[in-house]
Formats: sequence, C-alpha cells, structure tokens
Amino acid sequence: SVEITGLAKRFGPDEVLAPTDLSVEDGEFVVIVGPSGCGKSTLLRLIAGLEVPSAGRVAIGGRDVTNAAPADRGLAMVFQSYALYPHLTVAENIGFPLKVAGRPRAEVAARVAAVAASLDLTPLLGRRPRALSGGQRQRVSIARAVVREPQVLLLDEPLSNLDAELRVRMRHEFARLHGQLGATMIYVTHDQLEAMTLANRIVVMSAGRVEQVGAPIDLYDRPATLAVARAIGSPG
Ligand code: ATP
Ligand code: MG
Repeated sequence: SVEITGLAKRFGPDEVLAPTDLSVEDGEFVVIVGPSGCGKSTLLRLIAGLEVPSAGRVAIGGRDVTNAAPADRGLAMVFQSYALYPHLTVAENIGFPLKVAGRPRAEVAARVAAVAASLDLTPLLGRRPRALSGGQRQRVSIARAVVREPQVLLLDEPLSNLDAELRVRMRHEFARLHGQLGATMIYVTHDQLEAMTLANRIVVMSAGRVEQVGAPIDLYDRPATLAVARAIGSPG
C-alpha cells in the first residue's frame, strides 16, 4: 500500500501541492488526471523521493519512507522521456538496476531475458536506444522499471509520445503487466480512455489539490465539480 498524509510542496511562494491525503491499496491501479500544471508529476515525484516535501509523510507497505532515498523505497518509476542510457545496449539498460544492486551475473541475465520476452524485446537486446522506435524505447523503459519486481510502479504519462495504435496496444500491455506483477500502480495520464479503462480508482487533481477520488464510473456519473467533469470527459 501507499499511504500519503498531509503531503505538500512549495516552490518558493507557490504552493504547487496543497496538503494531500491519499491511500492506495496493495495491487490497486490508481490513475491521476487533471489539467497541465495541476501538480500530477510533483505528486509522483514526491512519492518517489525525487522531490523533498514541504510537509507531510509517505509510507509504502506500512513503512515510513519520507526520509528514505528513492532507491530504498521499493518502487520504480517510468518517466515520459523514458530516460534510457544511450551508450548501453537494451539488455544492459534493462539489467542496470540489478547490476547496481550487486546481483550475480547469471541472475541478471536470466531476469533480463524473462522481462524482455514478456515485453516482446528479445530481438532487440543487442541494440542501442538510438536504433529503436519510440514504442520500443518505451517498452525498454518499462522493462527496466519492472526488472526488480517493485511493489509499487509509478508511471508519468508513459504513452504520451506514442501514436494512437501503439497507445491501444500498450494500454492492454499495462493491464496485463498489472495482473502479472500484482504491483500497486499509480499512473498519470491526460488520456480519458486510459483513465477509464485502466483505473480501479481515479484521482482528479486541479490547481494543486485533489478534487475528487472514486471509481471511474462513479466519477463519470456523478462528477462533484466542473473540473472533474472536464477531466473525466463526462457530460457533467
Ligand atoms: P503536466 O500535465 O503539464 O505534466 P503536471 O500536473 O504534471 O503538468 P507539475 O509538473 O507537477 O504539473 O507542476 C505543477 C506546478 O509546479 C506547475 O505550475 C510547475 O510550473 C511548478 N513546478 C514544477 N517543478 C517546479 C520547480 N522545480 N520549480 C518551480 N516550480 C515548479
Ligand atoms: Mg507532468
């Protein structure tokens, strides 16, 4: 589970995240939506430990990780930019987190092979990122995130650079991956279809605060505010 209490962030005088409480259960798929600049990435980065909160606490699996380094939080994050290492091959990119963790070579090779196979990357293992398409890079970035079998997977608009067809394929892929890993997923998107189809619950944010949290169908049928109706694409 991921428990957030009173989590807040200021950049100078700007409060980009008002004190926020959110509780995500083990294995739950939560999707965060809301207009550009409303604080979605900031919230994800705070959970990941990539930003220092101005107030509040984060607990993962019942353990307070507010002061823990990102690598010690038992989570992995996929960024919109993918952020692959250009000088490493696909296999080396995927295996990197295991290598850093000091796992034996044979174990790294076996895990990389298994994860690559599950994401259709086996034929590409010897290539470098510049020789891959956008969708292939994106799958490598997902493979690298799941290779350590994180309890929690944070995804910040992972499909935003892809064409419509690939988005549909990857949407199914995320649903499958979620089932297979049993991981807790927190997923940011602008895409209403992704939100409606992937989420167990949707968190709608607006101007640095949470407007409403609920099951997709409940938010669609009963948006509390106009901002929620807009974010969900509900007729209001
Ligand atoms: P988008 O959908 O465009 O990705 P977002 O909801 O992810 O938007 P954030 O990236 O969380 O938005 O940014 C929230 C607010 O915080 C924005 O107004 C942004 O300008 C501001 N912000 C983010 N990072 C910083 C920073 N390092 N310094 C100052 N302001 C920042
Ligand atoms: Mg963002």
